[in-house]
Amino acid sequence: MDLPVADPGTERGEGPLLQCPYCDSEAMHKLAQLLLPGLAAVCVDSTTGDLFRKPSVVAVELRKEMVDYITQRSDTFIADALIESEANQETENEMPEDPFEIVSIFMDDFSSTKRNIIGHVSGWLLSDSREDKIDDFVQEMEMTRFWPLDRREAIAEVLLKNVDLKTKFHCPEKYENEERLADHKQQCSFRPVTCPNDGCRAKVSVRCMEDHDAACPFKVLQCEQNCEKRLLRRDMDRHCVTICSMRPMKCPFGCDSSFPERDLEKHCLEFLQEHLLKVLKVIHKKGHSEELKELAQKLEKYDEHGKLAKARDARPLTNVVKDLEAKMKGEPSS
Ligand SMILES: [Zn+2]
Ligand SMILES: [Zn+2]
Ligand SMILES: [Zn+2]
Ligand SMILES: [Zn+2]
Repeated sequence: MDLPVADPGTERGEGPLLQCPYCDSEAMHKLAQLLLPGLAAVCVDSTTGDLFRKPSVVAVELRKEMVDYITQRSDTFIADALIESEANQETENEMPEDPFEIVSIFMDDFSSTKRNIIGHVSGWLLSDSREDKIDDFVQEMEMTRFWPLDRREAIAEVLLKNVDLKTKFHCPEKYENEERLADHKQQCSFRPVTCPNDGCRAKVSVRCMEDHDAACPFKVLQCEQNCEKRLLRRDMDRHCVTICSMRPMKCPFGCDSSFPERDLEKHCLEFLQEHLLKVLKVIHKKGHSEELKELAQKLEKYDEHGKLAKARDARPLTNVVKDLEAKMKGEPSS
């Protein structure tokens, strides 16, 4: 594993080098997301089986302890990794390189020191009820804004810079003076910019913008079902099943065909005879189908205002049919 220079403030020539402060916004966000379930797990494990203490009672104290612990571990991570790699020179026993994996290990290590007796009972750690309790407590903390995201992101940024050995997720650039650093920051690919989509307030590293844009809830998109509408990504699913004129629908009269909602009118025109026959079969339970077919054709001819084709469902069509039949009976047949 190639390690970077152990001390980021390494001197070159006259003075200490200035490090570019930017890091990968998405990675920082992802790491910040890990912290909440991590804390929830510690709080749940340390209070399970204890009738007098709930996770929320220990959360403040354990949050501080956990942050101190994982920050300290991340601080010495590079030095520890060096010692480790020297000790294991022959073996292939490599430390993980993924910052998320590394921080998860720190949190697990901290958590294991806080487990009470029940927490050590085999099976508990893999049980569904533990998962449920952790999920519940995460939700509770989110609702009470116990540990807001921006605070977690500040910690995540420190952790990320400490454990990101391969500088995949933070900028490795260093400069001799402020001016050169400032020049670099203007074009650094890790520099945060605000998402240009209206309504989105996300700050995203330039290099992550493409990925963000591909998932941004505020991105305006053409309807996925190709109706004429353009709408926000976050509204797409609801639009497509509720008001989209292209949403697929089944014939309300029970034909086998399905079609986009906007073609209902066309379908009702084209299949009027089929629809009439279905309705007539219900009205005239004893009628023969040949007679009913004739009746259906008669009704359509008699319906000079096209009321039949305007009915969009069995009930209104039935009403129109009954109406027309009554009128036909009242008039002398031609
Ligand atoms: Zn940079
Ligand atoms: Zn956005
Ligand atoms: Zn649509
Ligand atoms: Zn139909």
